[in-house]
Amino acid sequence: MEIKNGIPVSPGVAIAPALVLDSESFRIPRRFIRKDEVETELKRFELARSRALGEISDIRDSVHSVAKEEVGLIFDAHMRMLEDPLITKEIPEKIKTKRYTPEYAVSRVFKKIVKPIKELNDAYFIQRVNDFYDIQKRLLRNLLGQRAHDLSKLDRKVVVVAHDLTPSQTATLDKKMVAGFITDVGGATSHTAILANALGIPAVVGLGTISGDISGGDVMIVDGKSGRVIINPDDATRAKYEARGQGYLDREKRMYEAAAKAERTTKDGENVNLYANIEWDDEIELALRLGADGVGLFRTEFIYSKFGAHPTEEQHFEIYKRAHAALQGKTLTLRTMDFGADKFASEVGLEKEENPFLGCRSIRLSLREPHLLITQVRAALRAALLGPTRLMLPMVGSVEEFRAGKLIVDNVKADLDREGIAYRKDVPLGMMVEVPSAALTIDSFVEESDFFSIGTNDLVQYTLAVDRNNQYVANLFKHTSPAVLRLIKMVIDNAIANNKPVSVCGEMAGEARYAVILLGFGLRDFSVGPTSMPELRTLMSRVTVEEAKKLADKAMSLSSADEITDLLEAEVERLLPSEEFGE
Ligand code: PEP
Ligand code: MG
Repeated sequence: MEIKNGIPVSPGVAIAPALVLDSESFRIPRRFIRKDEVETELKRFELARSRALGEISDIRDSVHSVAKEEVGLIFDAHMRMLEDPLITKEIPEKIKTKRYTPEYAVSRVFKKIVKPIKELNDAYFIQRVNDFYDIQKRLLRNLLGQRAHDLSKLDRKVVVVAHDLTPSQTATLDKKMVAGFITDVGGATSHTAILANALGIPAVVGLGTISGDISGGDVMIVDGKSGRVIINPDDATRAKYEARGQGYLDREKRMYEAAAKAERTTKDGENVNLYANIEWDDEIELALRLGADGVGLFRTEFIYSKFGAHPTEEQHFEIYKRAHAALQGKTLTLRTMDFGADKFASEVGLEKEENPFLGCRSIRLSLREPHLLITQVRAALRAALLGPTRLMLPMVGSVEEFRAGKLIVDNVKADLDREGIAYRKDVPLGMMVEVPSAALTIDSFVEESDFFSIGTNDLVQYTLAVDRNNQYVANLFKHTSPAVLRLIKMVIDNAIANNKPVSVCGEMAGEARYAVILLGFGLRDFSVGPTSMPELRTLMSRVTVEEAKKLADKAMSLSSADEITDLLEAEVERLLPSEEFGE
């Protein structure tokens, strides 16, 4: 039994065998072959090995640089490794005696080779480990050919273990079969984490080298609330976590019951609206069941992960139409596509950038390639005849950028008028406030934008210079940083003073401890992952505006993020006591 700690991103307990994806996303399940298949599988392995040897020899011969000799030596070493008895004897031995598939035998043997070298923790040997990984990948590629499977079709319950999962891989996970997932990298507000929450799959990220340390078939416990991962637990530990998982479910149930009875206002009768953040239209049903007042953020870029870089106007339209039908007259806030950075850059064929989070993502890409935005806006304005709609531009950093986006929307309207196509003319156009430059100059935007939605995931990342996806700096990603809180307060104050609707749609709004301070700042519209709604509804019904204001004032007088967090956590414990709801 081994215990690891990572960053908890989606609560719940999962217990199931591991399904390890290597960095090229090959699935290496623990599978066995029948006795009568041994000969064929041995031949298949031998063929893969000789093809790998051939490839390396070709690469070596094709190098025509001044470093030919040095490069040649590296590839000679790779060829020697492929001739080593560990590979020529031990892998076939495992296929014969243990009846492992060649893929699984390869992954077992390479793990055995690499583990002691990694434990030396020496920079020179780490490089050698990469050589071994390179050879392993070459062998697996040859073995698997086109047989790398699809994660949306699994035949048994698993915990997916990967170096990283892209948001689109996460989005297509078979929810019934993926009990949980864990990754080497990632942070709490990465899009992969947000999706895990939306799908209700327990997940832990930022576990370092876990994908290299685990073999397919190892039994895993994933505690998505504490961030603990246990490999091959003993019986007592397994029983303890089964009980803990049940405890989480009981807490959730109690919270749902309390929310169903709660007023939709604060304790002193002030209205609070809870809107849903969604990635797909089919999340709307659950959101409404949990009491959503509408959709505050539809991350429409996920449409592109389904249809590729160029969904047609009709494909967009169909999705918005379905969303309106599900919402039955409640508001749909469509954020125009926000891809780039960690979202779908490679899937839609964007160039690789050195610093993608600071690069051509989001509105910047929409303005560079306006046809993408035009197609989407045409569909959104037409579909708006079917239900109340708001359009929202992401990542706006300057007034010029907002105006350029608005000009495109105005041009689309003029085109539709010319073409005699029906659409809704009075769709409000708003913006995300998630770049510090926009927050700092919010007074200039009140003239331009119809509403604001504060995207704290990016606002924290850009204000504190902390990559939201990087586990090494996850401890520095603090929503309660006084710098972040001042920016948020400034935006809310300005919006209220100018009668502009304002909401917060980053993950911060969905966490009870931060929601109280936002209420104290004057926020009344929260846009959150649907599963956070019951807790938030209960919380809001138990606090008065005056109490929340006092708490916010006290927090703003403190200079350290950790002190502020402690203060807020104590308040949440008062409002939602563990004694009543369990842990
Ligand atoms: C945000 O940045 O807070 C936000 C809501 O947008 P996303 O998480 O999609 O970047
Ligand atoms: Mg954002």
